[in-house]
Amino acid sequence: MMEEIKKELRQIIQSVRAYMEAEKLAGIEEFYVEPLPKKQSLRELRQEVIKCRQCPLYKTRKNPVFGEGNPKAKLVFVGEAPGREEDMQGLPFVGRAGELLTKIIQAMKLKRKDVYICNILKCRPPQNRSPLPSEIIACQNYLTEQLEFINPKVICCLGKFACSALLGQDFPITKLRGNFFDFRGIKVMPTFHPAYLLRNPSAKRLVWEDMQKIMVELNG
Ligand code: SF4
Repeated sequence: MMEEIKKELRQIIQSVRAYMEAEKLAGIEEFYVEPLPKKQSLRELRQEVIKCRQCPLYKTRKNPVFGEGNPKAKLVFVGEAPGREEDMQGLPFVGRAGELLTKIIQAMKLKRKDVYICNILKCRPPQNRSPLPSEIIACQNYLTEQLEFINPKVICCLGKFACSALLGQDFPITKLRGNFFDFRGIKVMPTFHPAYLLRNPSAKRLVWEDMQKIMVELNG
């Protein structure tokens, strides 16, 4: 997926360069890019997501799924994208995979309201297809700002898309899981997505090993 992202970025850079060269030919020599205004709170960021039309997914979603939980959580779970149930309810991880995630959280002696749960994409891809690189790029700032507001001690990435978006690591999850990585000074533990565990229950043991490492880090 990193190759696809790089290819898209190269195309964007080429388009910007062509535009700037055309402007230069027209006599314009200086460009000023105004940074996007930073949001003041998670609530303000949520409002921004509700209005968002930065990628075509806004056309097919029923409800954007911003995220839920403790805005000061020490642990944040980041998944891939909303599924059918999440899209209907506007809440993250409420389908079968969500039930399993809730059980994992409870096994860690925590409640859902203690942690924060969100996805890299805030809108459901049609037929639950995998996120496209352009959608991940379009939505990435929302996740980054969300994590800046919450400022957790540990982020748990659920599945390869979350790992790839946050860590830029395109290795299989089997290679990444079980080890801490860094995202802007926050420890990140990659592990399997609960939807994968529903299909491969034998991997639950490995996820529990990862959760134990997170618990040591949180209580350390
Ligand atoms: S997926 Fe993200 S970028 Fe795309 S419309 Fe939804 S909120 Fe906006």
